[in-house]
Amino acid sequence: QRTYSSDLQQSRVLQRESNIRVMSRLAVVCGGSRGIGKAVSRLLAERGCRLAVVSRNKDAAQATVASLHGADHVAFSCDVSKEREVQKTFDTIHKTCGNISYLVNAAGINRDALLLRTKPEDMVALLHTNLLGTMLTCRAALRSMLHTQGAAIVNIGSVVGLKGNAGQCVYSASKAGLEGFTRSLAKEVASRNIRVNLLAPGFIRTDMTAGLREEDGVRSIPLGRFGEPEEVAQAVLFLLESSYVTGQVLVVDGGLQLAM
Ligand code: NDP
Repeated sequence: QRTYSSDLQQSRVLQRESNIRVMSRLAVVCGGSRGIGKAVSRLLAERGCRLAVVSRNKDAAQATVASLHGADHVAFSCDVSKEREVQKTFDTIHKTCGNISYLVNAAGINRDALLLRTKPEDMVALLHTNLLGTMLTCRAALRSMLHTQGAAIVNIGSVVGLKGNAGQCVYSASKAGLEGFTRSLAKEVASRNIRVNLLAPGFIRTDMTAGLREEDGVRSIPLGRFGEPEEVAQAVLFLLESSYVTGQVLVVDGGLQLAM
């Protein structure tokens, strides 16, 4: 017969099992040196994961690694938009750190401008970093992930990829592309028990939004404030640790999407 205390006991057992499950798993966080990726790296390290922190700036990735809880974390310099660099980096990660359990794709750039004012080279940079970069890292990580139980990928999209936004045509397109990519990859690898989900943040307080006037932005956010990177990290952790969620888009935006 179920009682409150038997439920509580069972939930403690599940929590312990989940901590063991996360313990010493290898997590690769692309874009882990700053902002959302850094908060994700910090939370995963606190949960006992070993981290491979990837960004173009090695010193920044190294500084993040030095600030993480625990040992055995490694920094890698890699431009995710460059196929050869990505392949080489993931080969090294696999050889030196072991099989990859988690991949979080938080490397991204924005170049906000009306389409008429967007330079073709900025279009290429946006698509190559935000969309192609995620495709390349997923492709490079998958072989290693096939060897781990309960492996999972979280790609970071954006609410503007779901709703569109004037002044962000190409950025939105790069993020909308991630939705189709994530759902398709989820179908491709489900039989190998690898889960793939997309997390779509709204306004989050990072370097990327540092140039925005928060008081202008918050008017359209039902919760009345920008989100913190740590609040996105909590949702990433949920997607990584869950066992029956795949091919989904989780929106973390303080309700912004409701008002768009
Ligand atoms: P930040 O600018 O704070 O951090 C971006 C990270 O990506 C840095 O670590 C940066 O390191 C890395 N990066 C950028 N380009 C590359 C590249 N070509 N190769 C490897 N690493 C790269 O951004 P946020 O943390 O705010 O954004 C993280 C993700 O979340 C992005 O995809 C962004 O589009 C998305 N997002 C952010 C929102 C926000 O409000 N902040 C809202 C919705 C989505 P380095 O420069 O050293 O390479």
